[in-house]
Amino acid sequence: MITLSNVKKVYQSKKNSVTAVNNINLEIKEGEIFGIIGYSGAGKSSLIRLLNGLETPTEGKISVAGHDITSINGKELRDARKEISMIFQHFNLLWSRTVRENIAFPLEISKISKIERDKRVLELIKLVGLEGREDAYPSQLSGGQKQRVGIARALANNPKVLLCDEATSALDPQTTDSILDLLVDINERLGLTIVLITHEMHVIRKICHRVAVMEEGRFVEQGRVLDVFKKP
Ligand code: ADP
Ligand code: ADP
Repeated sequence: MITLSNVKKVYQSKKNSVTAVNNINLEIKEGEIFGIIGYSGAGKSSLIRLLNGLETPTEGKISVAGHDITSINGKELRDARKEISMIFQHFNLLWSRTVRENIAFPLEISKISKIERDKRVLELIKLVGLEGREDAYPSQLSGGQKQRVGIARALANNPKVLLCDEATSALDPQTTDSILDLLVDINERLGLTIVLITHEMHVIRKICHRVAVMEEGRFVEQGRVLDVFKKP
């Protein structure tokens, strides 16, 4: 589902250059939950931005959901973006719009008819457990509910891959667990491939099948969670 070969990302300015991602090789299979853990500055955000085409690699090849995203643009890149969705630490909701309107937003962009949209939004609200909160504004929701809106919006166009950027880092431990349970449920029910970046070991242990440990732009370890983090 996702392949990275010899991927490098260098940020170049007049004064200096920073190698944020350094020669990463990675293969993630369909239906996997793959975690990337590392301290701040390790290169996790750069890597996840490369996966959805927000950044272009300085070197190497990236293929996601059958798209060689390092060489496409225009319509093919827009199509690829529908198959690669993302959720964020601070939710990135539209604050002047209701839960229903936030979830409908990507469907409007995809020019789905109003009838289809309303039907799909209902399904998504049910899937993430937000029944009864359809007409609330984000400011009226708890952190966990806001992330449920973020997840519903991310799933609106039936993506193949969900990228999670520190998606539970702004939440308390109990809410974190309920969001992680929802992600596992979605992974199992929809067969969705999930890639998450985090600095929290708990998140990796709770839901990931495999993990890579990132330091200074490199993967210093990679494998099954039980093998990488086995108790001494
Ligand atoms: P993490 O998500 O693990 O904290 P980042 O990918 O944000 O790591 O950062 C990795 C390195 O790349 C850091 O040294 C950071 O300062 C640098 N960096 C990230 N984004 C940019 C950018 N747009 N321009 C220049 N340097 C950047
Ligand atoms: P729109 O008018 O398009 O519905 P807004 O003007 O409410 O959207 O928000 C524009 C952007 O600013 C959104 O992406 C939202 O995430 C961000 N934003 C707006 N209000 C807040 C807020 N109180 N806290 C954090 N982000 C906000």
